[in-house]
Amino acid sequence: MARSESELILVAGGAGFIGSHLVARLLDEGREVLCLDNLQTARPSNLRLLQGRPGFRFVEHDIVLPLPETVTAQAHRITRVYNLACAASPPQYQADPEHTMLTNVVGTHHLLRLAEKAGARFLLTSTSEVYGDPEVHPQREDYRGWTSCIGPRSCYDEGKRAAEALTFDYARMDRAEIRVARIFNTYGPQMHPDDGRVVSNLICQALSDRPITIYGDGSQTRSFCYVSDMVDGLIRLMEAEDPALRQQPVNLGNPVELTVRDLADRVVEMTGTRNQVVYLPLPQDDPRRRRPDIGRAAELLGWTPVVTLEEGLQKTCAWFADELAMDREVLAA
Ligand code: UDP
Repeated sequence: MARSESELILVAGGAGFIGSHLVARLLDEGREVLCLDNLQTARPSNLRLLQGRPGFRFVEHDIVLPLPETVTAQAHRITRVYNLACAASPPQYQADPEHTMLTNVVGTHHLLRLAEKAGARFLLTSTSEVYGDPEVHPQREDYRGWTSCIGPRSCYDEGKRAAEALTFDYARMDRAEIRVARIFNTYGPQMHPDDGRVVSNLICQALSDRPITIYGDGSQTRSFCYVSDMVDGLIRLMEAEDPALRQQPVNLGNPVELTVRDLADRVVEMTGTRNQVVYLPLPQDDPRRRRPDIGRAAELLGWTPVVTLEEGLQKTCAWFADELAMDREVLAA
C-alpha cells in the first residue's frame, strides 16, 4: 500500500524483538509508523536498523506513564495501535515484577484509551503464558488455563490475563475495535543475546565457549515459531475483518513441538559445538509442555507458519554468529 500522509500506525514495543520485525514489515509495505519503546529490553541495534527509514518515527516512552503530547497530538492520524510493549523473557520480566504487571495493565489501559480517542483498531499481544502449566494439550483458545497468581511468573501471565480482560471489556463497551493474539514461543534474528530465553541461550553458548544449559531434565516441551511467520500472523490478525475476532483471542505459534533436550541436540548438531552440556535446576512454575492449536488462525486468518525449525534455526544461528563476531571485533579494537 502507498504511504498516506493521513494514516499512522502506532507500535508500542517497536524496538523489541518481535516489535522491530513488525515495524520493518510495516515500513516495507509503505506504512508510516510511530514507534514507542522505553528501551528496557530492546537492543539499540534493532532501533538503528529502523532509524532513518522513510515513514519511521521513534518516541522513547514507558507506557506505564501517561502518553506524551507528541503522541496524543497525532491521535487523529492513528488508525492502528499494536501493543507489543512488555519484557517477555522470564528472567527479564521477573527482574522488575511490579513494572511488568503495570506495563500489562496500566500500559494497555493507556493505549486502549488512545485507540478509543483515535477511533483506531487495537491489537494486544497476549501470550501462551495465559494457559499457565496447561492440563489440556495442545492449547486451544477456549481452554481457560492453569496459572498461579502467587508465583514468580504471575506478574507476566496474570498481567496479560488482566490486559486481555480489559481489552475485551473495551470491545464489549464499544469503546474500541480490538484484536487479541496469544503469542507462543518465537525466535529469530534480533533476539537479545542476553535475554535468557532458550533459543538465544543455546545458540550463543554453542557459538562461544560456554556450556550448553538445559534446565531440569530437558523433557519439557515448547513449540517454536520463526519471527517472520509471527509478524505475518499479527498483521493478518490486525487487518482481518471477521466480526468473531472482536470477541475471541487467536493463538499464533508454530504447532511443531519438541523437548528442550531435542532443541539442544539440534543446536549442537547445527553448530558443531563440542561444549559441555550442563543440567541446571528447573525454574519454579516452568510449564511442562506447550503447543498451540492454531485451527482458529487457520480458519479466520488463513494463516499457518511456513518456516521450518531447521530453516529458522539456520538463519538464527547465522545471524548470532555475525553478531558475536562483530562484538569480538569491537572488544579487540
Ligand atoms: N531453558 C533451558 N535452558 C536455558 C533457558 C531456558 O533449558 O538456557 C528452558 C526453560 O526452563 C523452559 C524452556 O527452556 O522450559 C523455554 O524457556 P524460555 O525462557 O525460552 O521460554 P518460556 O519458559 O517462556 O516458554
